[in-house]
Amino acid sequence: MTPSESPQDTYAIRISKVSKKYGDYPVLKDINAQVARGEVVVICGPSGSGKSTLIRTINRLEEINSGSISFDGQNIHAPMKTRELNHLRSRIGFVFQSFNLFPHLSVVDNVSMSPVRVKGVARDVAHDQALRLLDRVGLADKANAFPGQLSGGQQQRVAIARALAMEPPVMLFDEPTSALDPEMVGEVLAVMKSLAADGMTMLCVTHEMGFARDVADRIWFIDAGQIIETATPEEFFTSPRHPRAQRFLADLR
Ligand code: ADP
Ligand code: MG
Repeated sequence: MTPSESPQDTYAIRISKVSKKYGDYPVLKDINAQVARGEVVVICGPSGSGKSTLIRTINRLEEINSGSISFDGQNIHAPMKTRELNHLRSRIGFVFQSFNLFPHLSVVDNVSMSPVRVKGVARDVAHDQALRLLDRVGLADKANAFPGQLSGGQQQRVAIARALAMEPPVMLFDEPTSALDPEMVGEVLAVMKSLAADGMTMLCVTHEMGFARDVADRIWFIDAGQIIETATPEEFFTSPRHPRAQRFLADLR
């Protein structure tokens, strides 16, 4: 274990005084928040409030203007070499709304590619691991199919398996079910729920309030670039404190 993986820090992620602008437009305003190890956080809030930007800063898909974000005690936004950044990124799984699978690779090759290329895992070892992960997301029988032959829900489950193949201690999800036909939402949420049950640390941007209620340990409600409420699902759904959170929930009904 390296010093940066010190088990003393109960937080997997610490976001401190993070601000970001697009030009003159402040998209994130002084965000302070922590994610404990094994915690499941659901980020919700109106469209355009900064949810995607926030979650993307966590694995540095977006730069920030000030503040810091630490992951396992290491500042993700410190100056670092590309190689070091890639290593950090490989330890933070990210699942996008659009699945972003490689269309010319089979399902099992999509899943085993990064361990082989980035981690130097032997091809046969990575292949076996990929088959186990596909089994875990209920797609053992699709290993040799190509992404274009799968439904949206199946492709998103492959994307989750692909992220898991790097054995990340943290998984980030940005509206993973928003691009799916309604009948496929449940199968993806079920996989996410099983990950949570296994103790994965997760940050999920989602409008699936049933998932938030059942699976989240905490809800972060974000509005106009600020986290204006953090609460347990129980608190958030029964007695949201902030008027904007109240309005957001009322609009969902
Ligand atoms: P959300 O995910 O909550 O819908 P986003 O984080 O995508 O919100 O966007 C927050 C705000 O930042 C929006 O007003 C959006 O238009 C703006 N924005 C997002 N990405 C960019 C960008 N690359 N350049 C300029 N503005 C952006
Ligand atoms: Mg978004």
